[in-house]
Amino acid sequence: MAMRLEVKEGRQGCTLINDSYNSDINSLDIALDFMNRRPDHEGRKRTLVLSDIYQSGMTPEVLYREVSSLCGNRGVEKFIGIGPELTAQADQIAIPQKYFFSSCEDFIQSEVFRNLHDEVILIKGARSFGFDRLTEQLEQKVHETILAVNLNALVDNLNYYRSFLHSDTKIVCMVKADAYGAGAVEVAKTLQDHRVDYLAVAVADEGVTLRKAGITQNIMIMNPEMTSFKTMFDYELEPEVYSFRLLDALIKAARKEGITGYPVHIKLDTGMHRLGFDAHPQPLPKGGESEIDRLIDILQHQQAVVPRSVFSHFVGSDSVDFDEFSALQFERFDKASRRLQAAFPHKILRHMDNSAGIEHFPERQLDMCRLGIGLYGVDSIDNRILNTVSTLKTTILQMRRVPKEETVGYSRKGVLTRDSVIAAIPIGYADGLNRHLGRGRCYCLVNGQKAPYVGNICMDVAMIDVTGIDCREGDSVEIFGSHLPVTVLSDCLDTIPYEVLTGISNRVKRVYVQE
Ligand SMILES: *Cc1c(COP(=O)(O)O)cnc(C)c1O
Repeated sequence: MAMRLEVKEGRQGCTLINDSYNSDINSLDIALDFMNRRPDHEGRKRTLVLSDIYQSGMTPEVLYREVSSLCGNRGVEKFIGIGPELTAQADQIAIPQKYFFSSCEDFIQSEVFRNLHDEVILIKGARSFGFDRLTEQLEQKVHETILAVNLNALVDNLNYYRSFLHSDTKIVCMVKADAYGAGAVEVAKTLQDHRVDYLAVAVADEGVTLRKAGITQNIMIMNPEMTSFKTMFDYELEPEVYSFRLLDALIKAARKEGITGYPVHIKLDTGMHRLGFDAHPQPLPKGGESEIDRLIDILQHQQAVVPRSVFSHFVGSDSVDFDEFSALQFERFDKASRRLQAAFPHKILRHMDNSAGIEHFPERQLDMCRLGIGLYGVDSIDNRILNTVSTLKTTILQMRRVPKEETVGYSRKGVLTRDSVIAAIPIGYADGLNRHLGRGRCYCLVNGQKAPYVGNICMDVAMIDVTGIDCREGDSVEIFGSHLPVTVLSDCLDTIPYEVLTGISNRVKRVYVQE
């Protein structure tokens, strides 16, 4: 059975064991066993926070009597039940110290929550109970590397790009790659509140995550896998279609489910030569058929899917160097998409502009635009920062004086030129701090001052030179963000800010700021 238990230091002497992946009775027993065996519970109370269990196949009475007996066997001393069903079955729980709340929020507001201390707490809840909030509240907040995401800045950026658009031009917001690292769920909720027309993700699973988090907005899947059609139908996710093979498989899958009129988005290749139907056919052999002709023919002779939109992608909308080629791409798109439209009585939305395109070619906004990097605060035309959305920060773990004849880090690469003060920070390449930033190639900010990375960046830790900087252990360090643009890092790495932003690993906690 797939299990993922996280153990974390909590507030007030608590240890948290977090298992929010499963909510069934078998995994409960495994997790309880895990808690019971932990060597560190010496003298500390063992507490279980449990939500209602769904789909057990048992009656509630039997189910919770069973839960109670497992808890008894595994030494649970305090039981906190959350949810209407558990509350109703309170009598079945034979643990002397027990409390029940109808929701996670009620529990967080309660005296019982405030009084948690020196306990080993197993937290096990079905996702819908929002136990994430609970663990967030219980976690100790020091020594953390976090990505602080400013949702107001995100909205300001959205409005900046909207200012280039006509009032009836629709907008697709790209929340692929976990919203360029910012965290797809929270970003999508914010965008939904601001009534964008579409959200777009790369794969179906990303779309499912959004649906499960309560996102009801239209969702486009940019790179649908052949194996995920059923998932897309079940969660009302609209695939992009870029090839005949994909189209054929999709039509078959829809027919099998008895589905008709399923919306799809047709991708045309106008010059990227990545994915898409060829909008600019090479000279055809005599009597040959262009891809657009063949596509129209197939679409007209089936009822399973309908083209809701047709689009293509600029290869260089962010640079005047490619203006001529962009114009050529647009012309190819314009021609091919008009032919597609002419073959159907319903409106097919046409779209081509990405973030840079919206600014650079507002006259090519057509019916809809696709906003990506700009939403996250980087203007890809000149790498200017709009409103900073993501700030990656950490804290100083330890500081030491290192004489100049010593070296710092692996392979002795941190050669010192003076007696130095070196600070260690809990972020490494496994968090997305690229190892090529090390050995003095880049810096972070400590109390507003530049502190270069010394020696090789390690997996979980990096060392920085804070000689002459007024700082102490526990002080905050900015890796990139409001004071140090992410583009400083991407320039240093000879890459684009997209790569730095999407490279922040999952283990870095996202914290959302909204006024
Ligand atoms: C990612 C993506 C975009 C967004 O591009 P930005 O440069 O981030 O605005 C637009 N269209 C397609 C097809 C994409 O894959």
